[in-house]
Amino acid sequence: MSSSVALRLPSIDGLLRHPACAPLAERYGRDSLLTGLRQLLDELRPGVLSGQLSAVEIGAEVLAGRVGERLAQQQRSQVRRVFNLTGTVLHTNLGRALLPDEAIDAVQMAARYPLNLEFDLASGKRGDRDDLIEGLIRELTGAEAVTVVNNNAAAVLLTLNSLGARKEGIISRGELIEIGGAFRIPDIMARAGVRLHEVGTTNRTHARDYEAAISPRSGLIMRVHASNYSIEGFTARVPTAELAELAHRHGLPLLEDLGSGSLLDLTRWGLPAEPTVRQALLDGADIVTFSGDKLLGGPQAGLIVGRKELIAKIKKNPLKRALRVDKLTLAALEAVLGLYRDPDRLAERLPSLRLLTRPQAEIFAQASRLQPALAEVLGSLWQVRAVEALGMIGSGSQPVARLPSAALCMRPQVSKRLRGRFLLSLEAALRALPIPVLGRIDDDALWLDLRQLDDEPGWLGQLPQLQVDS
Ligand SMILES: *Cc1c(COP(=O)(O)O)cnc(C)c1O
Repeated sequence: MSSSVALRLPSIDGLLRHPACAPLAERYGRDSLLTGLRQLLDELRPGVLSGQLSAVEIGAEVLAGRVGERLAQQQRSQVRRVFNLTGTVLHTNLGRALLPDEAIDAVQMAARYPLNLEFDLASGKRGDRDDLIEGLIRELTGAEAVTVVNNNAAAVLLTLNSLGARKEGIISRGELIEIGGAFRIPDIMARAGVRLHEVGTTNRTHARDYEAAISPRSGLIMRVHASNYSIEGFTARVPTAELAELAHRHGLPLLEDLGSGSLLDLTRWGLPAEPTVRQALLDGADIVTFSGDKLLGGPQAGLIVGRKELIAKIKKNPLKRALRVDKLTLAALEAVLGLYRDPDRLAERLPSLRLLTRPQAEIFAQASRLQPALAEVLGSLWQVRAVEALGMIGSGSQPVARLPSAALCMRPQVSKRLRGRFLLSLEAALRALPIPVLGRIDDDALWLDLRQLDDEPGWLGQLPQLQVDS
């Protein structure tokens, strides 16, 4: 549209004084408003010059509205809560374990007030932050000593570097694993300055393989829990007790990276067996490393536990300072560990364990309860059913084990050709909700595994906002 009178954009000053902009200045600050207006005017200028924009489109009210939307968008936090209905409980991309109230309270306290992070209240002297949880860890695992770092990858790196730098680390070929997000044992070993000496074969490694590898260049023997895959069939693996005996006979320490590192035998809750930290130490591992936010159910952290003199050596490594945990993590970790003192109530109090042990019948009942509301919102192009489903623990714990669960299963009632597009667009619509809902697409359907749906009213309440275009 061309007009005989040339249009002009409103001036910045004029806009700032306009009543439509006043509430924005109040809400977001004058500087942010000014930046927003400048950007918008710069973007609109070419359209005005070429006559593509009308007077209405550059009116003060319209511009204020557009800037307001942008400022609101910018102010919205990038860290967003989501509904994890993927069926994977300890989902690394979705933040793994959820903290119990006790830990959340402890984090709040630690965030709000000064605390005795490295201060010994008894003596009035400087303290060590590891001391805050050492007593609990010793009680719960039988370890002599402990040190805590940022995550288990850091724990492995620090341990290897402290005990094996410039020497050889002996490890079975079947344990040279890669864990999601580029954590590869051979690479970590190299970065830790340990020369990898792999022994055995992918599926079978014997005591004699380790024995033959030992030489004056050896620094340690390492064992890694094959977290995210399983080797089945014709396999052989040296039991930890035997490997420890062999290592000690040659004066070498045995490190065991447990990954998940369960503190208690999970079979008492009907979950698949995972090696416990206590058992690994009893079997003779000198150092055991494990994550804080996997099966333990706490904050992201890497725990290094084991023999006192080795822990002392690890703590002296300057890398420890670079990898240490912060006060919020320690506060949360102490609170979570405290819950383990009462195993009988652990499954009620620790969210990850409560979710992992939710009975399938209860989840199925929930799915049946929610099915009508979802079916109504989705309309006749979708079949919505409450069905049994199989979930998993996640974070490399028991990769082949499945958790019997239940889900809302949504199938598009359209021709095969259109199904993929329908599924992707429903998936996107669920992600666009105020609290994004994340499920999984499988077998020509979209599944919402309800094992982790705690906040049922919150989930139901936003359903009417679901915008499915078909
Ligand atoms: C998960 C895992 C790691 C890495 O732990 P993060 O806490 O994620 O750094 C290392 N080793 C094993 C065996 C694991 O399962």
